[in-house]
Amino acid sequence: METTKRCFRVDRRQISYVKFILEAYDNVAVMSTLDSREAVIQVTIAPGCETMVDGIIQGLAGEIGVMPVEGAPAAGMSGKQAIRMPDKMKQVEIEPKGSLFQMKEKLLYISTIGCQMNVYDANQIAGVLAPMGYTGTDTIESADMVIVNTCTIREKAEQKAFSFLGRLAKIKSANPSLIVAVGGCVAQQEGDAILKRMPHVDLVFGTHAIFRLPEMVRRIESSRCRIVDVRMSDTIEFDAPVDGPLTDGQISAFVTIMRGCDNYCTYCVVPHVRGREASRHPDRILEEIRMRVDRGVREVTLLGQNVNSYGNKEGLCSFSELLARVNGIEDLGRIRFTTSHPKDLSDELIDAFGRLEKLCHHMHLPVQSGDDEILKRMNRRYTRSAYLEKIDRLRAVCPDIAVTSDFIVGFPGETDRQFQATLDLIETVRYDGVFAFMYSDRPNAPATAFSGKIDEPTKKRRLQALLDLQGRITREKHQAMVGQIRRILVEGPGREMESGDADMASSRVQWTGRSSSNHIIHFAVPEAQRDKKELLTGAFADIMIEGAYAHSLRGRLIDGPIMATPGKGETSVAA
Ligand code: SAM
Ligand code: SF4
Repeated sequence: METTKRCFRVDRRQISYVKFILEAYDNVAVMSTLDSREAVIQVTIAPGCETMVDGIIQGLAGEIGVMPVEGAPAAGMSGKQAIRMPDKMKQVEIEPKGSLFQMKEKLLYISTIGCQMNVYDANQIAGVLAPMGYTGTDTIESADMVIVNTCTIREKAEQKAFSFLGRLAKIKSANPSLIVAVGGCVAQQEGDAILKRMPHVDLVFGTHAIFRLPEMVRRIESSRCRIVDVRMSDTIEFDAPVDGPLTDGQISAFVTIMRGCDNYCTYCVVPHVRGREASRHPDRILEEIRMRVDRGVREVTLLGQNVNSYGNKEGLCSFSELLARVNGIEDLGRIRFTTSHPKDLSDELIDAFGRLEKLCHHMHLPVQSGDDEILKRMNRRYTRSAYLEKIDRLRAVCPDIAVTSDFIVGFPGETDRQFQATLDLIETVRYDGVFAFMYSDRPNAPATAFSGKIDEPTKKRRLQALLDLQGRITREKHQAMVGQIRRILVEGPGREMESGDADMASSRVQWTGRSSSNHIIHFAVPEAQRDKKELLTGAFADIMIEGAYAHSLRGRLIDGPIMATPGKGETSVAA
């Protein structure tokens, strides 16, 4: 049967969802491709249907600005695809009847190693590939494409990525049509060396190349070529809000507000693999958060390597101003952010903890070391006393604020005395939790060339001493919370308890939520509410803390309302 093809360009910002339905004619298919702002829709038109399709397109043109595209349709466009658009302004429903144009579903497996930034990137990757027919799978064996989203912050993370990639060789030889792609920081760092080292890899894409992925994947699908794209840019070229997939009942999401870093700490690879610091426009950030909130998200974590310098370079608003705008988003319950560089933590931001009711009472403020000489050689540009002053200011403004931090042990030249200064700082601050790492050399990081490297057994011993000390402090702080009431955002059915507990064990349904201070709290659901899952996930509830574990707390849902719309005091469920 002869068909003709037409292409139309649609402004993505104006529509939320395009789905073509042609009741009377079976043979009409729709396909889309996404770049940052627009979707090109290709319509395959069955003989005799031209006039009708033209009529529909003209109708759409009047309403949503659909424009004919000159030239041939893009290669590889066929079948049917529904595309999601960022703004919910119009919903046009036109869908082909019958199975003739059912697009073959393609399965995508993404393996993510590393920080929250990588988790966000994975979501973005899934979002840009969805319009090409890729949907997520949990099994590598069933996948049409595997993407390894890598991290190189420490040596171990990089080794993990290479070992996973190595295992994919066997899977690819059993399934030669599988596309194997490597993204993230290792991809950026190693570039085409990965293609040379690993013949089973088809695509290496760097940290700035995510929006170019659809085009690259299309080329690989059609010609089985091998591609490396590690181009970087000092500014954010594509700033489209991401509407990646949400898992069932997901109530918390990451939103990147800036990328890269200009701080050049001497141990750190980030500026070399994520590029110069660049901030997203606040309007795009707000748009993205609203989109997530519309789909059920109640809590966002704003991400950046140093959120405190958000917008400075571009002359956008300050980070505190951005927080105030996010705070105004209706139906958003909570705001978190990470990471803050201590040197840039402003009084204005500290004061925001006293002002913005949705801002969670938690500050992650990585200090790295408690010794001034080490801090200087790390190029951190603050002193121990300046850091402690900021903690005091935070606690003065927000007395119940939880403070957590990052530490590196065994930095080149670190003496026992200097390490003791770190332990002493931990005793002084009494953190609510810490992440601690053994120093490792990273490519291009200046400390790699520093003398006085610390041997592995000493690093391990210091790491253990630090974790033991913090473990004791955490247990003491958890114990002190017993008897207090904490409001939590309910995340859903919880995991197993950390240790046996008669009350909890007898309660078949255990749930988990987080307090504003980011403490994980497990609780039992009363009999009357056991069938009302949807009423709990994403709601706020008050919990009486009754028990403390090493990494979490246990409590009881206290009598009173559970709030589905936090902050407004409206009740939806009575416990
Ligand atoms: N931008 C944040 C900051 O300034 O603290 C953190 C970025 S980094 C992704 C997370 C943590 O990894 C750092 O805070 C540091 O503790 C650790 N880290 C970075 N480079 C490291 C290295 N070469 N060896 C060990 N740990 C490292
Ligand atoms: Fe790395 Fe320092 Fe930038 Fe954090 S602030 S990403 S540790 S260079």
